[in-house]
Amino acid sequence: MIRVDVRSKRFGDTEVLGPVAFEIADGETVAILGPSGIGKSTLLRIVAGIDTDFEGRVERPERMAIVFQEPTLLPWRTALANLTLIHPELPEADARRMLDRVGIAERADAFPTQMSLGQQRRLALARAFAGQPELLIMDEPFVSLDPATADTMLGLTEDLIAEARPATLFVTHARSEAERLATRVLELGGRPARLLPAPSDPKGGLS
Ligand code: ATP
Ligand code: MG
Repeated sequence: MIRVDVRSKRFGDTEVLGPVAFEIADGETVAILGPSGIGKSTLLRIVAGIDTDFEGRVERPERMAIVFQEPTLLPWRTALANLTLIHPELPEADARRMLDRVGIAERADAFPTQMSLGQQRRLALARAFAGQPELLIMDEPFVSLDPATADTMLGLTEDLIAEARPATLFVTHARSEAERLATRVLELGGRPARLLPAPSDPKGGLS
């Protein structure tokens, strides 16, 4: 479970985030929607603890995984090593199982530069879940993939989240992705930011 209470975020004299507060329970997924430049990635960086220069407070678990828009892989290490170096406690057999799970078992010894964008994304996803995160943060994880690959990745992510049940916060431009994956949708753009129930959630889900 995470608790976020951001009162203000500025870059110099410019306020890029006004008051935004929400909680995410374990196993719950919140999608952030909003126009370009509104502060979605900034909010993710704050929640992740990468950006600490803001007014407010964030309470989050220690075991966290981040999937950035561009996969941040170690280019000089194989796919397998990208998992085992980040998760030294992870037995190699488990790392290979994870690669198999995301459909790139046969690419274990390939370097990221030898892999397609979709394969790199799968590797980033495998790496995120290999650490059994209590908090999962993703910034447009399915953008610029072809529709079929994006759909496969979405299903895979859905399954992995259902098993590991982290609190999940992710940014997307695609409302269809938000509706499929999220239990609630956070719309940035109005002030104050509004936390809406996902249209598929009949009970509402406002907290
Ligand atoms: P997109 O959908 O295009 O990814 P976003 O909602 O993620 O947009 P952010 O990257 O969070 O937007 O940026 C929010 C605002 O803060 C933008 O106006 C951006 O120019 C500004 N900004 C972001 N990082 C910095 C920085 N390091 N210094 C100054 N301004 C910044
Ligand atoms: Mg962004």
